[in-house]
Amino acid sequence: MSKRDYYEVLGVSKSASKDEIKKAYRKLSKQYHPDINKEPDAADKFKEIAEAYEVLSDDQKKAHYDQFGHTDPNQGFGGGADFGGGFGGFEDIFNTFFGGGGGSRRRDPNAPRQGADLQYTMTVSFEEAAFGKETDIEIPREETCETCSGSGAKPGTKPETCQHCQGSGQLNVEQNTPFGRIVNRRTCHYCNGTGKEIKHKCSTCGGKGKVQKRKKIHVKIPAGIDDGQQLRMAGQGEAGFNGGPAGDLYVVFQVRQHEFFERDGDDIYCEMPITFVQASLGDEIEVPALNGKVKLKVPAGTQTGKKFRLKGKGIPNVRGYGVGDQYIIVRIITPTKLSDKQKQLLKEFAELSGTSPIGEHEESFFSKVKRAFKSE
Ligand SMILES: [Zn+2]
Ligand SMILES: [Zn+2]
Repeated sequence: MSKRDYYEVLGVSKSASKDEIKKAYRKLSKQYHPDINKEPDAADKFKEIAEAYEVLSDDQKKAHYDQFGHTDPNQGFGGGADFGGGFGGFEDIFNTFFGGGGGSRRRDPNAPRQGADLQYTMTVSFEEAAFGKETDIEIPREETCETCSGSGAKPGTKPETCQHCQGSGQLNVEQNTPFGRIVNRRTCHYCNGTGKEIKHKCSTCGGKGKVQKRKKIHVKIPAGIDDGQQLRMAGQGEAGFNGGPAGDLYVVFQVRQHEFFERDGDDIYCEMPITFVQASLGDEIEVPALNGKVKLKVPAGTQTGKKFRLKGKGIPNVRGYGVGDQYIIVRIITPTKLSDKQKQLLKEFAELSGTSPIGEHEESFFSKVKRAFKSE
């Protein structure tokens, strides 16, 4: 914070002429040039002198410095936040020193600016996401007022330059702080930073130049869109300022859950219950697919949890990279309500097969269990 005054650095008075500043700089820069001066702080001094000269030799920079000194929010510290909003408090002081202000760019209130982006959340069904769909949505957005073509002034009249800020849209506000007197640049509250004053306001938009409208927009939901993905519709956001382009519209998709399909990327999964008879003897079953039903061959001896793959029966990739697969996981259902006849037949079945499960996989598993019991 102990930055020396530039005039002091060059050893000249505030009323020094350009020539005097130049002479002082030449003399000092020779004196402190690191090639000549071997004092440890020579390089720093040389830098300080060069910085002071850079500002004081430039008419525009000098005028700025004369007005704001080192505390000018637009000098040096960089930063990006716009000034404006609430007045006073410690935060304002903080911003002034540490990177508030608008960097070196000064915003011209008359420059064309892009309108705001809009976001719209659209809920779609599982199938709509999979196959895509065309639909219309209605969104509220700000559009350029047709009566005044966005100027905000009554037809036949024109907005005038704001007298308070001379059209810059910003005012310098002096403020006493614990750090001394500080000049802050703030949005002009007479014209709200537009730099314009409208004496005769357009009656349609009340001087805003924009009107809120509900706009119908045609949306093509791309096939394969997934939950949380978004579609950017260029130029469908809010109207721009001073003839600038409109913002963009982002349609964010929320995909509803399906009754029995689950999605993982472009693949879909579903569970299929089968009887233990079907699993034992094999069968051809009908399974639901995205577009209707498909037949699936369950081979004899199918275990519960077995995964079958139906190639290309998943969801088309949203970027056009092929189509996903459908996976069917079979679950063998144990019967809970058995007639006497069924019970009898199962008992006979058990007598024929013994208590060990029949099958190769399970055999090895059971022999392991038996071994474990024996070793105890
Ligand atoms: Zn208007
Ligand atoms: Zn103003």
